[in-house]
Amino acid sequence: MRYLSTRGLPDDPRPGFWDILLEGLAPDGGLYLPQNYPQADDQTLDRWRHVLATEGYPGLAQAVLSLFIDGIDPADLRRLCELAYGPGVFSSPEVVPVSELDGGLWLAHLSGGPTAAFKDIAMQLLGRLFEFELGRRGRGLTILGATSGDTGSAAEYAMRGLAGIRVFMLTPAGRMTPFQQAQMFSLDDPSIVNIAVDGVFDDCQDLVKEVSADLAFKHRYEIGAVNSINWARLVAQVVYYVAAWLRVSTTGGPVSFAVPTGNFGDIMAGHVARMMGLPIDTLVLATNENDVLDEFFHTGVYRVRSAAETRATSSPSMDISKASNFERFVFDLLGRDAGRVRELFADRLVAEGMFDLSGTPEFQTLRQRFGLVSGSSRHADRLAAIADVDRRDGVLIDPHTADAVTVARRHVQPGVPMIVLETALPVKFAATIEEAVGRRPERPARFDGLEDRPRHVVEMPDDVATLKALIAERVSR
Ligand SMILES: *Cc1c(COP(=O)(O)O)cnc(C)c1O
Repeated sequence: MRYLSTRGLPDDPRPGFWDILLEGLAPDGGLYLPQNYPQADDQTLDRWRHVLATEGYPGLAQAVLSLFIDGIDPADLRRLCELAYGPGVFSSPEVVPVSELDGGLWLAHLSGGPTAAFKDIAMQLLGRLFEFELGRRGRGLTILGATSGDTGSAAEYAMRGLAGIRVFMLTPAGRMTPFQQAQMFSLDDPSIVNIAVDGVFDDCQDLVKEVSADLAFKHRYEIGAVNSINWARLVAQVVYYVAAWLRVSTTGGPVSFAVPTGNFGDIMAGHVARMMGLPIDTLVLATNENDVLDEFFHTGVYRVRSAAETRATSSPSMDISKASNFERFVFDLLGRDAGRVRELFADRLVAEGMFDLSGTPEFQTLRQRFGLVSGSSRHADRLAAIADVDRRDGVLIDPHTADAVTVARRHVQPGVPMIVLETALPVKFAATIEEAVGRRPERPARFDGLEDRPRHVVEMPDDVATLKALIAERVSR
């Protein structure tokens, strides 16, 4: 499988999976996608059903991933999948178990990983792929990132102890939930450096950009990222769409998915699965009050928001102003016309902060061709959904999952199971749960005493020279 950029030219080289693994954006500023979507016909789907039943989630992961990844011995790929998804990493041996709710809904539980959020699923595999490829190339990797919550901790838990990899993760001092802080800062590992910056999340992100802009420094200290545009993260997520379909649709009929959406990563993986031929009827995109994407799917106008216009909500991992993976979907929407994508994302969006596809035939036929619908949910909807699912099903869901349940209920069709992706455990957002149902969520035993563990964090002013000095000191050690 070869990859192309959403902004590429016809004669551009087409790199393979391992070449794009360690890169972020394509050199032209676009995002990588496979040059075509491998097709899973009925026979393939039957085979996958058998593989999941006999070899479990790691076997299915290998089967699906092998369609996208050349240049690795099948036994090696299998071993990496076993390391990422084998015993002890996720709380269920099924990795992504499903459960049925009232009213035609199902939950696919993506939050059984070490940090209780779905980002673990992709990060666990990414860490193993990195370690494997760095070993082949005989080099190391310094992951430098900024996080306001889930991504940073998922990255740290996935990368710790892996050969050749160290992580520097910036967080805005005092601005994460106590649980999120404890989860990251309790990690005691010489290759993990937690940094609390005296500033807000945007300051942290600016520091990362400033360090990365110093190309000599970046090269010398082997600096890279694990952000949400990484293709390997997306492709890892395709696997659980297949697993959830296999588990819910025992007869092979179609299902729909509802996805709590921020950067359009999770639902993009659903789009890829649908393009491969997985029987997905509808993909329901759910946003919170930050409804940039819902606005696009209703009006055809994509207008990014400024940081100041981005609201802090009770489903904070979806508080985005600009959906970093959206360009990938627009590329497919426009018939893979890279010239038009370049014009929209490199010119129009930069100059005007928006673009409008409402008058185009592509937008008008979007729903029929891609099965994608959207809706948004507010704080009160979230609380109501949490209370409702608790009352009807005796199950507590987290606020992000609640956004998806709210929007999913508007789109349920008789005879088509609606699978809501559960993206976090309620324990991470205890205050909102308590507001909804009047009691704190139960805490899985593996998180007992988390906040009491010793904290490992370096406090730092918002200053790039201090950050560079810290990296230089720790990496050469
Ligand atoms: C990251 C995250 C999301 C949003 O996922 P995207 O891939 O950015 O759309 C939803 N819920 C939770 C809990 C998350 O951590």
